[in-house]
Parts: sequence; C-alpha cells; structure tokens
Amino acid sequence: MYNEFAVSIPDYLNKVLLDHLIRDDGQEDLCFALYAPSLGSNRRAVLINEIILPQEPDRQVHGNVSFNEVYFKGVCALAMSKGMGLCFLHSHPFPGWQSMSDDDIKAETKMAPTVESLTNLPLVGLTTGSDGTWSARVWEYSPNNDLTMQWVALVKSVGVLMRISYNDRLLPPTRYREQFKRTRTVYGVQDHQTISRLTVGIVGLGSVGSLVAEMLARMGIRKFVLIDFDIIKEHNLDRQSGSSTQDVGKFKIAVAEELIRRSATCENVSIEAINSSIALDMGYRKALDCDVLFSCVDRPLPRYILNHIAYSHLIPVIDGGIKVRFEKSEFETAEWQLQTVTVGKPCLQCLGIYQPSEVDLERNGKLDDPSYMAGLDNDHHLKTNENIFPFSANLASMEIFHLIALCTQIGGAEFNIQRYRLVHGIISNYHNDHCDPNCAFVNSTATGDHHFSPLQ
Ligand SMILES: [Zn+2]
Ligand SMILES: [Zn+2]
Repeated sequence: MYNEFAVSIPDYLNKVLLDHLIRDDGQEDLCFALYAPSLGSNRRAVLINEIILPQEPDRQVHGNVSFNEVYFKGVCALAMSKGMGLCFLHSHPFPGWQSMSDDDIKAETKMAPTVESLTNLPLVGLTTGSDGTWSARVWEYSPNNDLTMQWVALVKSVGVLMRISYNDRLLPPTRYREQFKRTRTVYGVQDHQTISRLTVGIVGLGSVGSLVAEMLARMGIRKFVLIDFDIIKEHNLDRQSGSSTQDVGKFKIAVAEELIRRSATCENVSIEAINSSIALDMGYRKALDCDVLFSCVDRPLPRYILNHIAYSHLIPVIDGGIKVRFEKSEFETAEWQLQTVTVGKPCLQCLGIYQPSEVDLERNGKLDDPSYMAGLDNDHHLKTNENIFPFSANLASMEIFHLIALCTQIGGAEFNIQRYRLVHGIISNYHNDHCDPNCAFVNSTATGDHHFSPLQ
C-alpha cells in the first residue's frame, strides 16, 4: 500500500498541456494523456508520457467543458494498446491549487471504473489553475472494491528547471523557525518553501554525500532518503563529515543520519536510512520515492542506474566526481566535475562519465574480484580514489547550487557541466554537449520501467 502519490510531467509536455488548457477566452478546456507508473517503496508516481489533444468534434467548450464518447473510447483503446494508464486533465479559470467541483467529481467517478477495467491502472485526474498550478488525484479501488479518491501530494514539471505544485494539505508549508532565518532571507520565503518540502535522496554517503547531507539539513530540508551499504573505515576519517574514531565500523548511513539529526534546522526531520545498494530492488525503490537524487558514488553500475532513473522516472540526478592525478607517485593535480542529469540535458553515458563495458564488469563481480583488480595498472581510474576533505567540500557545495538552480532558478536559469581545475583555479562551463540521437535513456523518458529495468 502506497502512502504518497506524485505526478511528473516532462516540461515539454507540460508546455503543450498548458498551451491547450489555459485559453485566451477564459473558458475551461480538457484533454487526455497516457501515463506510465513509477513504483517506489512508499510513493507511487504517475509519469505523463503522451498527450492526446481533442480534435474539433471531440469536445464542447461552453462554460463547463464536456467531451464525446468517441474521444473517450479512442483514448482508452490507445492506453490499452500501449499498456499505459490514462489521465483526464482540465482547467479552471482561477489561479492556484484547484479543488473539485461537483461536476468534476461526477465526471471522474463515471470514467474511473471503465478506465480501471480496460487498462488495469487507476484513472488519474488533473486540474490546472489559470497560472499553471496543478492539482491531481488518483481513483483507486480499496480492498473492499469501493472506488476511492486520493489526492496527489505534488505535481512536478521536470526539465532543466523543475516547477512543483504542492498540495499544502499533504505537504504543508514549512513553519518559520529562527534556526533557518538567514537561509530564508537569502532564498526568500517561496523558494525556501519549494526546497524544504522536497524529498531528497543521497546515493553514497562517503565524503561528498555526508557533506551534501549536512548542508541540506542546515538549509531546512525535511525529508531524506540515504542509500549506502558501506561502513566507515579508519582511512575515511579525514574526509567523512560527522564522523570520529568511535564511528569506525559503523554504517555510513547511520553516521549520516545522526549528522542530519544534529544539523537539521526544520522541525521533525524525516530520514530513511537504507542499508542497500541502488543496484538492488530495495535501494532502487527507495530512490524512486525521491524528487531529486544526489549521485555521490564512484562506481559505474550505480551511475548507470541513476542515469536511467533521471530520464525514465523523471527524477533529476545531480552527479559529481573528483579525479586526483599523480605523476610518478607525486601529486600532480586534482579536478572535479559536476552535472545535473535531467530531461533537456545530456546523460551520463553520452557524456562518457562511465563506460557501459565497465557496468558489465561490475555486474559480473569483476570490480570486487582481487585477481581481476590486481591485473589493472595502478593508475587505472577504477583503482584510484584518492580524495581529501577540501576537494569534497568544494564539490558538495557546487552540487547544492545545482539543486537550488534546478528548483528556484537562483544563480541563473541553469548550470551547465562545470569542471574545477585545481592547478589554475578555474571553473569551466561546458554547454555544447548533447546526447547521441539514439540515446536509449532519452528515448525512454517518462516510461518508468516499461521499456527496460536497469536491475538484472
Ligand atoms: Zn473542474
Ligand atoms: Zn544519452
């Protein structure tokens, strides 16, 4: 049983929807769309995948808009043939989050049983206000076979920017506290409300991940999902935020959870600390509960899975990595790079952040096989993971700026791929990169695990 619902819409489809539904003449309008389900652990998300706009005879716009049976039957048939669910969307001529009129309830109650029996997926109703704020609900059958309506907690338009419509009843605005006074002064009330209500996942709680966790906690983020199965070793102590010698042998997620509780500026912070890999079903499902994911991993397989989630499940991933170079065993230089992976930006695989062949090696256990690893050169990138606290701190801080830009546009409309080179102290921005035209990740945008699951 899921206790939270969310809807995600690729931003290019959100634009088509709002252009159609919000009319210059102030009348209401409607349309249908297909969706793919995204099944997390606590959250079920609806990913809008294709819009079927009405043709002229399909609907009548006259105060209360209505549609013809032929249009409805046609979209049901299309949903069935594609194995997708069905959304019914309409507009109201007022701004803000929209409740339902008696006519809305009547219309959706009438459609829901047909949609459920034909598609085996619940009908999802969405309403936009005249300012593009969405509300949404899911029509489900209870175990006693009663049709029930459940409000969706948040609706997101996901692209280079993420615009979120929160259901204030389910995700109430964060109450002011003196603890985050300065943070709120910088971001402003509205943007702080947007950021603090996100569910943020951190995959990998090493040096960068633990710092990201602490920064987010101090900013007032209320909900965390931490995914890692590693334990703290003595040689991690020079760069693991929140750790001390007593923590050697403890799970990194446990120490990070403690750190978040100590640093949190919000009331009642919620933390799910998951002792799992994202390559296992448990870690994977927990990642799907999130609105944004920080990729603080150094192996190819978790990156490959996060790359899939960014497009297929419409959850932006903020990824970063650090490279330290040695020349004849002498430190030469270091550089770190970060990128937000989301609809409208290039993916990690096309950027060459990991090699697909190395994903297979990791799946086959080669990267944990001492005899295989012994065969690699000492400076092979799979073997070198030197790093120090100041490098991680700089990268973690830059990753937070990416989150802020993604959700609020503060710091510019978008950040590109950024690389910092220690030797010259220069941050370079790259924005010419794009995916291969046949990129499998981009081609599965908003399909959930319908096209392929990255777990094998
Ligand atoms: Zn209505
Ligand atoms: Zn790609």
